[in-house]
Amino acid sequence: MKFSILTLFPEIIEAYASASIIGRARKNQVIEVEAVNFRDFTADPHRKVDDSPFGGGSGMVLACQPIESAFESLLPLAEPARILITTPAGRRFDHAYALELAQCQQIVMLCGHYEGFDERIMQLIPHIEEVSIGDFVLTGGELPALCIMDSVTRLIPGAVQKFSSVEADSFYDGLLDYPHYTRPADYKGLKVPDVLLSGNHAEIAKWRKAKALEKTQALRPDLLNSNLSS
Ligand code: SAM
Repeated sequence: MKFSILTLFPEIIEAYASASIIGRARKNQVIEVEAVNFRDFTADPHRKVDDSPFGGGSGMVLACQPIESAFESLLPLAEPARILITTPAGRRFDHAYALELAQCQQIVMLCGHYEGFDERIMQLIPHIEEVSIGDFVLTGGELPALCIMDSVTRLIPGAVQKFSSVEADSFYDGLLDYPHYTRPADYKGLKVPDVLLSGNHAEIAKWRKAKALEKTQALRPDLLNSNLSS
């Protein structure tokens, strides 16, 4: 899987993609990450990539030319590919969306900044999808792109050492994760549930399933309802 992230701040992408589980997945060639700087593709002699908005108003808008040229430098894309543009107006990113993306060979992500992109970029880049990571506004699209890259990478076999741990995490089976505990069994009088110390794996599995259901019912009943309706 190749992630191609188009940005004004490739150093943010590089820093994140070099550390921890993502860094290891990259080293082990489970994923490839390239960060492409829009500024390297501007035709402006002063390396400008943005301009003031038509109609007035504050903030700067990322201009079509450097964005389109940076995208075109990636062609041809591996098949199947998805092309995402990060924007608070987009489809809300979630586990189901991550599973869809994990089927691709290449994911291209465009990171905005300032006021965002000239709207015509939607017409200039075919099959572009608007994606949001939630109803709040960040200063740039780098964190959204990294969130997406991270969550999709976890779903690719080989990225996380034990895939069974990914399958046991929240959302994978439609439920939130069950509670976890580690040593000591008694911390300041707070005791780990006896069943987890029993060594009875069937009982432990039953307890975990019940706790996952209980937690989902209490914190995210919408997940249970959406499972019933699907
Ligand atoms: N003017 C835009 C609006 O109100 O919808 C906000 C622009 S925001 C300050 C700059 C860039 O950050 C956006 O172009 C987008 O790439 C990214 N961004 C901010 N919040 C985001 C979110 N919730 N999801 C995805 N991208 C986001």
